[in-house]
Amino acid sequence: MIKNNNINTCAWIGQGEGCSLECLPGKSYCAHHYEQVYQKGTALRKRHKDLRVANSVWDIEQLMHEAVEQLIEEGFDL
Ligand SMILES: [Zn+2]
Repeated sequence: MIKNNNINTCAWIGQGEGCSLECLPGKSYCAHHYEQVYQKGTALRKRHKDLRVANSVWDIEQLMHEAVEQLIEEGFDL
């Protein structure tokens, strides 16, 4: 079997079954296996995203407090 060098095939070995699908551009794996290989990294990124969301919620809360304080300073009757 002649390997087609014009197409980068998935580097997935798995349990020996291999994979002959085309790689994602600039990656060593096809879309399916890229996902599997980088699952851990994805979970980490997701956690970072959650932290970012938590931070932005905190920022909104801070802004709310600041806005309320400003209203009080301006004599707004809460
Ligand atoms: Zn694959």
